[in-house]
Parts: sequence; structure tokens; C-alpha cells
Amino acid sequence: MSSQSPGKGGMLDWYFKTNLLMRILIGLVAGAVVGLIVGPAIEVIEPLGRLFVRLLQMIVVPVIFFTLVVGAASVSPARLGRIGVKTVLFYLVTSAVAIVIGLIIGNVFRVGSGVDIAVIEDGAARDVEAPSLVNTLLEIVPTNPISAMAEGAVLQIIFFALVFGLGLSYLQASDDERLKSAADLIFRFFDGGAEIMFKVVRGVLQYAPIGVFALIAVVFGRQGAEVVGPLAIVTLAVYLALVLHLLLVYGGILKGFGFSLPKFLKRGREAMVTAFVSRSSGGTLPVTMRNVSEGMGVGRPTYSFSLPLGATINMDGTAIYMAVCALFIANAIGLPLTIAQQVMVVVTAVLASIGTAGVPGAGAIMLLMVLNAVGLPVTEGTPQALAYAMILGIDAILDMGRTGLNVTGDMAVTCAVAKTENDVDAASWAN
Ligand code: ASP
Repeated sequence: MSSQSPGKGGMLDWYFKTNLLMRILIGLVAGAVVGLIVGPAIEVIEPLGRLFVRLLQMIVVPVIFFTLVVGAASVSPARLGRIGVKTVLFYLVTSAVAIVIGLIIGNVFRVGSGVDIAVIEDGAARDVEAPSLVNTLLEIVPTNPISAMAEGAVLQIIFFALVFGLGLSYLQASDDERLKSAADLIFRFFDGGAEIMFKVVRGVLQYAPIGVFALIAVVFGRQGAEVVGPLAIVTLAVYLALVLHLLLVYGGILKGFGFSLPKFLKRGREAMVTAFVSRSSGGTLPVTMRNVSEGMGVGRPTYSFSLPLGATINMDGTAIYMAVCALFIANAIGLPLTIAQQVMVVVTAVLASIGTAGVPGAGAIMLLMVLNAVGLPVTEGTPQALAYAMILGIDAILDMGRTGLNVTGDMAVTCAVAKTENDVDAASWAN
């Protein structure tokens, strides 16, 4: 992993010869330190971070499309259906548990109490309606697959790739020689495309340490100092709940299916760090796929489906964030949530986390939906608007942690489902 690129002497040589993960971690720590020291002026290096995120985003659509077509074409429709049902169930249950953990920790820490927002001031005025279920489901079917790809609509791309892959697998099984050989050609084309994209991911990761440095430096330069006071407690509560969920829920699932958590973390760390700094599950997807396939030995039939789906609908970190922040806002304005309201949070936050796009900051918008449901709509002039604005001030810091957990959850569930499908290469876990 460390020395594929031929750096010629000096700095470059050192750069390419050092282990990639080491370089990424150095970028992470150095970025935080430099950001805190330099402060907001560090924004001049922001383009270096944006370059990293753009490179990742560039490969998302082709990675999903190529791998999923090959994945769907290599399994029987029945098996694909089984993988689908299991994956979705896992995703839903873990998200609901995440919210309960978030609520427990938020209540224990009494987040937001003592903030005392009684004054009515202008805040970020926004009001989001929950989209209707029927429409959400209908919109999974693209009216135009090309525009779905152009817009990066992940669920629509998944749907079309599945349909295309299934058609391909029927053609491959055809008795007609002409159809069969055409299908084999198309299959090889997609297979090659998927492999090419993985090569590109590897190349992009060589730039990761610099991108990571810039992304983290900018976040800490802008907001490092804000994470003190009442917001420090929310931050602490969110991060504690994230860690608990990781250890208890994912640790439990992995153990239950015969995987070791430390090995899992080691094999998935590139994806976790990338998610942490890029704050985008969708953008991290190429790296997640690489870790799960090359590091954890999961087969393409499982991960080509479960990971793009997870990056779109499975957001346990976001679910935790919503639970803790709903409590924070209610306590801050002196209207603590009742038990009935907290049950409402569980239901709406599961739906809101499913609806959250895997892009930076999306969870903060969907939090508004949860607040609506518990009767605290964020509209101009309300105290909750002010409390919400406080949370928004540190959103980048919270977003890093929640996105990290979102992606970790996708990987843990993928391992479990793959195990039930006999789709894991045991040798990958040997040492
Ligand atoms: N940034 C998160 C993600 O990409 C979504 C969120 O904002 O909660 O997973």
C-alpha cells in the first residue's frame, strides 16, 4: 500500500515510502494543531481539501454503477433479494437502537439545560416538511437513468444498475450463442470498469494525507474555539454515544457473526478516517468498498449492493446526533421532551436518518424534521431557532463523528450479511 508510486528522491520519496495510513494520521493531527494555532486565516488552504473531496466524488457514480452491475449479474435474483431484505432490516434496527442510545446519553448528560434561551431572537428560520412515503418510494425509480447518473441520485442509480445487472445475468444464461457471447462481452466490460475504478481510488488515496490536513485545519481554524461551554457537553455526549454504539452494537454484531472488532477497525480505518474528514458517506463510498473488499474479503455480490445502499439510507451516527440535539434544543429553551415526545423522536429520527443524503451537513437539515414532529418547529423568532443556530455553529465537528459512524455501520452490517451468505473470504481475517 505504501510504495506503488515512484517518487524520485527527497521529500517525494519519503512521502510515497511512508505507510499511507500513517501519512493520513499525521495529516489529521497536524491539521488540527495547525488549524487551532492559525485560526480562521487557515482558510487559504481550503481548496486543497476541496480537491480531495471532489476527487472522491468524481469516482462515486462510476464505482456504484460498474460494481453493482457486475454484482447483480453474478448472483441469482433470489439471492439478491435475500441480501436486500437482510441488509435493510439490519440497517433499520441498528438505526433505531442508535437513537435510543443517543436519547439515554443525552438525558444522562442533561444536554442543553442551563443554557436558558428565553429571549426571542431571530434564528435560522427553516421549516421542512417530511416527504410523503409513497413519493419517496416512487422516486427510487428513475424516469431517466442517464439524468439519475448525471445528478448522482444514488438510490435511482442503484435501482437501474440492479435492473440492468439482472437483465445481463438472464442474457448470460441464454441458450442463444449470439446473446450469450454479447452478454459475456458486456460483463467483461463492466468487470474491467470496476477494476479500473478501484485503481483510481488507490491513486486518489495517495493525495488523501494532504487533503485530510487541509480539511481538518479549516474546521479547527474556524470552530475549534467554539467547542467550549454548553456546546462542549453536547459534543461530548454525541461522541460518547457514537463510541458506545460502535462498541456495543457493532461490536456485538461482529462478535455474533464471528468477526473480531479490533481486526474490523484495522481493516476499515481508511474508510473511517476518510468519512471523518470528508463528512460525506457518499464521497467515502469508493474507499469503503475498497476496505470491505480488499481488507475484509467480502464478495462483490454483497458489498456492491449493501454499501451504496448503506451510504444512502443507513445513518446511525446521524440518528444519534438527532436524538442528542433534539434533547439539547428542548432543554435549552426550558421545555424538556416528555417520554411520549422522545418516542416520537425515535420514530421520526429513523425516517429522517434514512432520508439524510450522504453529504456534509445534511443531517442538520433533517434535524428540522424531527423538531417539527415533536412540536418545536424552527421558525423565525422562536427560541428553538436560536438553540438550533448554536448547534449549527459546531455542525462540522459533530458531522465528522457522525459520518465516521455512518460508514462504520455500513461496513459492519455488510460483514454480517456477507457471513450469512457465505460471501466472506476467511483468509482475510486470519491475522
Ligand atoms: N454527513 C453525513 C454523511 O454523509 C450526513 C449527515 O450530515 O448527518 O453520512
